[in-house]
Amino acid sequence: MRRLTEIPPTAGLPPRFSDLFAQHGDLAATLATQLDVDAALVTCSGTAALMLALRVAQQRQPERDVVVVPAYTCPLVAIAVHAIGLRLRIVDLRHDSLDMDEYALRAQLDERVLAVVPTHLGGRVTDVAAVNRVVADSGIVVIEDAAQSLGATINGRSVGLRGDIGFFSLAAGKGLSTYEGGVAVARDRQWLEAMRALQDALPEQAAMERKRCVELAGYTALYRPLGMRWAYGLPLRRALKRGDPVGAIGDRFPMQVPLHRMGAWRKRIGANAALRLPRFLEERCACALARIERLHAIPGAQVFGDRAGEHGTWPTLLVRMDSEHRRDAVLDKLWTSGLGASRMFIHALPDYTELRAIVPQQDCPNARDLAARSFTISNSPWLRDEDFEAICRVIEAIAAS
Ligand SMILES: *Cc1c(COP(=O)(O)O)cnc(C)c1O
Repeated sequence: MRRLTEIPPTAGLPPRFSDLFAQHGDLAATLATQLDVDAALVTCSGTAALMLALRVAQQRQPERDVVVVPAYTCPLVAIAVHAIGLRLRIVDLRHDSLDMDEYALRAQLDERVLAVVPTHLGGRVTDVAAVNRVVADSGIVVIEDAAQSLGATINGRSVGLRGDIGFFSLAAGKGLSTYEGGVAVARDRQWLEAMRALQDALPEQAAMERKRCVELAGYTALYRPLGMRWAYGLPLRRALKRGDPVGAIGDRFPMQVPLHRMGAWRKRIGANAALRLPRFLEERCACALARIERLHAIPGAQVFGDRAGEHGTWPTLLVRMDSEHRRDAVLDKLWTSGLGASRMFIHALPDYTELRAIVPQQDCPNARDLAARSFTISNSPWLRDEDFEAICRVIEAIAAS
């Protein structure tokens, strides 16, 4: 039977129409309370938060012009670095891990390096302490990319606070959403205030903000199983049919990044939705931990989980098969099934043709291997147990083939 519904590929917090009519709510203050920090800065996107952080770093150390990022991350990170006139260096992941390889990181560092961007991929917590050790006393700024991990903690503290600056994304599908948006935190309040001053100096972009308001209203209307069929499933199937997986997961971005301030209406909407976030994340965590157990029982499929002290978030379950061939076979069955299976990023950064001009062609076997063998299972509350079981049976059959 053909399904008429589509499970979103990640566990976005379901928006409510009542959010649109909220009278009160301060997004920055609400998130600061939830993250247990003095202050947070709301930006127009996660990418914009990264750019503001890099600009402040650059003001303080203008002689440095290199930013070091993991080889497996969002293409927007590479675009952000390029857009503000800095150069990119990439570091491979450690074997069997989502952390940057410390030795490879060390090899990339010199007096030109302005910042390193350890990245909390897919809700998992990355080892920022290890990065801090590598850069100790070098003057290099550590910016935690927690775009996919709002609500994740390490030893009871939010991620984003072990480095100098941390940022989260409020883009569509990334947990809490204002359609586009971001939030930054900093260990040192002066960093955040310097970023705020830069943001306050940006020109008013009324037309862009109006567009975002319409998009957020549309997202609120369509972010449900029936609406997602049309808003997400249709373009997905079209892109896959023309052999364009990068387009299918929305991994292709313009080289220009809009920089402006988020308007008051969207901030109020976000603040009201944010009140539901802690409880939602808890429920999603409980669900994910139970489902991981089921996946653990499948030989040939590995799921990434938390280590001691880490309490990540669960937008998806990130699964790695024992071969690219089997991963592809799983997605052949599941990607267009409407059950929310997808991929994180299609390629390691050097392998996006659209990024050729801005990403150095460094070798990164572990990042490439992760891109080749991994896929994601949505942790959306709309994915029922019987749907998840159907997904597991597909994986099981292919793993045993
Ligand atoms: C989505 C994402 C970003 C960019 O965030 P936006 O809010 O979409 O600009 C940066 N890094 C990672 C790892 C991401 O997943």
